[in-house]
Amino acid sequence: MITARELLMHAYYAASWPVRTIINRRDALRGKAPISVLFYHRVADSAPNPWTCTNAQFAQQMRWLKQHFDMITIGEAQQRLRNGLSNRPAVCVTFDDGYAENCEQAIPLLVREAIPCTYFVATRYVFDQLPFPHDLARSQRLQPNTLNQLRDMAKAGIEIGAHTRNHVDLGQIHDPHRLEDEVVLAGEELQAAVGKPVRYFAFPFGQHPNLNAEVFHLAHAAGYEAVCSAYGGYNVPGDDAFHLQRVHGDPEFIRVKNSTTIDPRKRFTKRYDYETAQHEPAETRSEATAKDEHAV
Ligand SMILES: [Zn+2]
Repeated sequence: MITARELLMHAYYAASWPVRTIINRRDALRGKAPISVLFYHRVADSAPNPWTCTNAQFAQQMRWLKQHFDMITIGEAQQRLRNGLSNRPAVCVTFDDGYAENCEQAIPLLVREAIPCTYFVATRYVFDQLPFPHDLARSQRLQPNTLNQLRDMAKAGIEIGAHTRNHVDLGQIHDPHRLEDEVVLAGEELQAAVGKPVRYFAFPFGQHPNLNAEVFHLAHAAGYEAVCSAYGGYNVPGDDAFHLQRVHGDPEFIRVKNSTTIDPRKRFTKRYDYETAQHEPAETRSEATAKDEHAV
C-alpha cells in the first residue's frame, strides 16, 4: 500500500525531474557528477523496523540502480573524486552494523550481480554474538553476523569495514584511550579475524553531532583510507575524498530513486569539516540523533 508520504515524494520527484536532468547533464559534462554512497542496515523479511528492507525491496532497488548507474567501489569513488573525472552517474553500496539475515539473499545477490559492497561491522556484537543496543531498545533481539559469514563475504569480494567495537556515539567520546579502542584496535581485531585488510571506517549514527574531528585524524593516522558519515549529502570532485558522505538506503524505492538521481535540495547538505569542527553542545546532539533514527 502506498502512503501519503510516498505520494508526496512521487510528486516531488516528478516535478523536479526536468531541473535535475538539466543539472545532472551539466555536471557530467564538467566531470562533476555527484557520487551517491548508499547505506543499508538489514535486509530481511521478518521483524521489520525503520532500518530493515525486505528482500524484494532490496532486489528491486539493486536491479534499477545497476541499470542506471556505474556501481563502484569506495576506492573507485575516491579515484573519481581525486582525478576530477566523474562524468557518469555512480553509486556505491554500503551496509552498517552486521546483521545475519543480510547473508541469506542480499549479499549473494550483490555477489552474483557483481555489485561492489563495503560492509561495516561493529565488532563486539559479531564476536560475542550479542544483539545491537538500538534493537534491544525496541525489544527486538536480531541476529548479528557470525565471524564465518564475514570471512565468507570477504572471500566473495565484499569489502569488510570497521564500525567501532561497541556501536558508540563517537561525538560524545573524547577520551583518547576509548577512541583508540573503538576506532583503531577494533579495526585491527576485525582485520585479524577476517584475514583481509580493513581499509574503511564508518561512524555509528553518522549525523553531524555524532561525528568527531579527533576520530578523522586518528583514523587517518592509523592508515584508514576513508571515513564515512551518514547525514546525507553527495560527493563531488573537489570535495575531500577521505570523508565520504552517505545517503540512506531507504526501504521505499522512490526515496532511493530520489536520492541517487541527485535531489536538488540535498546538494546543499552542509559537509562536516573536521579541520574546523567544534564540539556541539549535548542538547543539539540528542535532538539530532532522535530526529533521524534510521541512521544507526
Ligand atoms: Zn550503525
